[in-house]
Amino acid sequence: MSIKKILFGFLLIAFASVASVLFTIYKMQILTDNMLKIFIHPFQVNNAVAEIYSGVTVMDRDLKAAIHVHDMAHITENIRVLTEKTHREEERIEYNFAIIYENYQGDNHDIDDAYHAFIRWKTLVEQLITLLSQGKNHQANQLHNTKGIEAIEHFYQQNKVLNDFAVKEASEFHSFSVVNKSQLSVTFVLSLTLMLSGFITFYIVRTLIALNRTYQDQLYLLDQNILTATLTRDKKVVDISYALCRVLKLDREAVLNSVNEWFFTDKQQYLTFEQDILSGISISQEVNIRVEGQELWFNLEVIPESPKGGGVGIFNLFFNDITDKKLLEKLSITDNMTGLYNRNYFDSTFSRELRRAKRDEKLFSVVLLDIDFFKQYNDTYGHQEGDKALIAVAKVLSEQAKRSSDFAFRVGGEEFLILTNQKDFISLELFTLNVIHSVEALEIPHGPSTISEFLTVSAGAVQVSHEKDITAEEVYKLADELLYQAKSAGRNGMKSKALTLA
Ligand code: GH3
Ligand code: MG
Ligand code: MG
Repeated sequence: MSIKKILFGFLLIAFASVASVLFTIYKMQILTDNMLKIFIHPFQVNNAVAEIYSGVTVMDRDLKAAIHVHDMAHITENIRVLTEKTHREEERIEYNFAIIYENYQGDNHDIDDAYHAFIRWKTLVEQLITLLSQGKNHQANQLHNTKGIEAIEHFYQQNKVLNDFAVKEASEFHSFSVVNKSQLSVTFVLSLTLMLSGFITFYIVRTLIALNRTYQDQLYLLDQNILTATLTRDKKVVDISYALCRVLKLDREAVLNSVNEWFFTDKQQYLTFEQDILSGISISQEVNIRVEGQELWFNLEVIPESPKGGGVGIFNLFFNDITDKKLLEKLSITDNMTGLYNRNYFDSTFSRELRRAKRDEKLFSVVLLDIDFFKQYNDTYGHQEGDKALIAVAKVLSEQAKRSSDFAFRVGGEEFLILTNQKDFISLELFTLNVIHSVEALEIPHGPSTISEFLTVSAGAVQVSHEKDITAEEVYKLADELLYQAKSAGRNGMKSKALTLA
């Protein structure tokens, strides 16, 4: 799953989480409002209705008591007390009507009706008090029993409308609260869950982004430092590191998707290598590649990768620059002055090549060469000219020993040795004579030489068949003896011997 998709998921959860929190807050707001309404109705409105009811009842009770008292002596005082009490109750009732007007959730006409009924009752009470103050208790009693009872009952009826509505509303608000409370619980749990998953997703996204950054850093480091490329079976470059482009001096954009012969510059080397690669095995091999005229050496590792269906799909190439190692290696086995292999390399190669020839059942051929009268040459032309002559002779030797199985060494001051692969003794003799003639053909003037006017060499050549049981030292000794014989025989020539079982 890509980071982008996870990020999108995170944003979705975050959005849902914020939405559900807002919804929860909204639900809580509704419930709080509702709680207030529940409080207002059964408590404030119902209380006020009850207060009004009791006020009217107290007024009626006081009035009835006054009607049945015939105390003419204290009539003024009694009426004053009654008026006072009645006013107090009226004030209490007015005050409670004000509360109802303020808080009643139903139709205001209901309150108006109740209030008019109260005014009607209040007016009647004033008439009754006037009658009582005139001592007309009997008439007052009659008025109370007729219009009075009717007015009070009318008032009770109107008051009951207010009361019933308040009770009904309260129960509706209650059931509304019950429904909303359960919804609130659900949204609350949902909010918590969403917030929790939001946090978890946030943490995962943060970790993934950090990991991705590390991965990108590592890829960058690999790209900068590892010499690698990926090729398809039909040699198309599908990937190449910046480091490899830098070393091989390639333009990445130009190389990508182009067909390339594995970056080889030696056609022959490429052809032998390609056969091995296409067989699908992993390969690790030293190859040399020319980059802008300079020869670089690499250890090339090829790891084939199989597609799902089998076979070989792509090849991962890993180059390891071993140019410096190769250079050191070459220096350690090369003679500085002549460029031939040195004495050290001869010591480690000679017996190994003898063993190899025996194992492969091949003839082992050695030619030991020495420049004639070289001391005199040096004495006549100087040491520097002597060096030049040595270099020229060495060049002839390396040209003659040009096959990959041939080796040419400088084994002493003016002594050389060639290991060569010759099919028979005659071939070895011809080869040796050819070398001798080639040196003389250089026509390096050699005044003090008694054998030629030019610089010459003498040679001792030995050929050993694989059945012959002989050590490398013995072969060398024999070659040296043959060389000595060639010198004795007059120089600028050779002595040779074939060592077989017979
Ligand atoms: P012969 O024909 O019997 O081989 O006589 P020669 O004088 O060639 O043999 P000898 O062994 O007496 O002398 C070899 C000379 O090679 C001695 C030395 O001055 C010279 N020599 C050895 N190494 C070098 C070198 O690196 N440079 C030069 N210029 N001369 C060298
Ligand atoms: Mg010598
Ligand atoms: Mg010599």
